[in-house]
Amino acid sequence: MARLIDSGPGCPTPTPLRGASAAEARGLAYDEAVKAETDDLYPLVQDFITPMEWPAIAPFVAAINRLKAQKNAVILAHNYMTPDIFRLVGDFRGDSLQLAREASKVDADIIVQAGVHFMAETSKILAPEKTVLIPDTRAGCSLASSITGADVRLIKEKYPDYPVVTYVNTTADVKAECDITCTSSNAAQVVEAIAKEWNTDTVIMVPDQYLAKNVAAQTDIRIMTWPGACEVHEMFSADDVNQLREAHPGVVILAHPECPPDVLEAADYAGSTAALANYVSEKSPNKVVLLTECSMSDNVAAENPGVNFIRPCNLCPHMKRITLENIYDCLVNGEYEVTIPEDVRIRAKKALDAMMALPKMDKPLDFVTGLEPLELEMVG
Ligand code: SF4
Repeated sequence: MARLIDSGPGCPTPTPLRGASAAEARGLAYDEAVKAETDDLYPLVQDFITPMEWPAIAPFVAAINRLKAQKNAVILAHNYMTPDIFRLVGDFRGDSLQLAREASKVDADIIVQAGVHFMAETSKILAPEKTVLIPDTRAGCSLASSITGADVRLIKEKYPDYPVVTYVNTTADVKAECDITCTSSNAAQVVEAIAKEWNTDTVIMVPDQYLAKNVAAQTDIRIMTWPGACEVHEMFSADDVNQLREAHPGVVILAHPECPPDVLEAADYAGSTAALANYVSEKSPNKVVLLTECSMSDNVAAENPGVNFIRPCNLCPHMKRITLENIYDCLVNGEYEVTIPEDVRIRAKKALDAMMALPKMDKPLDFVTGLEPLELEMVG
């Protein structure tokens, strides 16, 4: 059961050393120059950071923005970053696909990935000439760590006639063994396209069993999958949806397709991170709940001030390893560089290119809600 919090300011930013001491330890201070540089930025985060906290945070914001200019660096900020990172220092913001696209075309020497490790690898795969840094190498992902390249080789030996689709939430090693990647925005499109190309009615989709089940409910293609799961989204249940409806009559419930299928069955709408954000800005529901990572609700709420958000608070512990403090350290020290052996990078890029070569969709695909959950055969 997710922890339910009534709408209001988001979760406290869980940084380990937040306060004036973190800035002082690095020789940063809230002086007149910093105040002048950051006063205009404070309104962007005033719902999440109190005026008392701001003097401890503003020096990092000012220093990071100066360092980016000096070093020709950009920060790619995922939607699950806390609002201080997402709104104040992120140059490009979005889900993993949007960030990967930016990485491939951005004019910069350094990319700092404010996200998790597989995202930094994706940036490196697409922009090998750039230095890609991640502020904390421990920023992993339960999906990415659920499967290895060796696992995929075994799957391919056992099922040579079926194409293997990997969700982008995997390591470069895994992508290098797969035929095509997908995101939650285009998964059904990818599954149908690769089945057609291989002239088969069966596709193997790894590693997210819930995304695979949710896609299988939307297509006639038979899908086999792997027992991986996102540790954040798998915590939501259909009971949560029922309790939310009881506690907040009239609430519109939106779910990410990494949630178990019974959650999508009970939700009002389901779609990728980008699709959920679009839904809120286009439909402006009175009262809404996003069954996804907690900071995502904060960031969408900040952009939709008229919408009342109910917040079930499931934080991703891996995403939360990235902080303003370690982004600053990363830019100062040039650490930690993400590298990939060239042969792996080239094969992984083939899988990403296969996805990017598909016709570009106008908007992320919706997932139909209200469908009965399906059970799928596991390949693992
Ligand atoms: S939210 Fe889930 S899928 Fe995203 S990084 Fe965290 S564990 Fe991985």
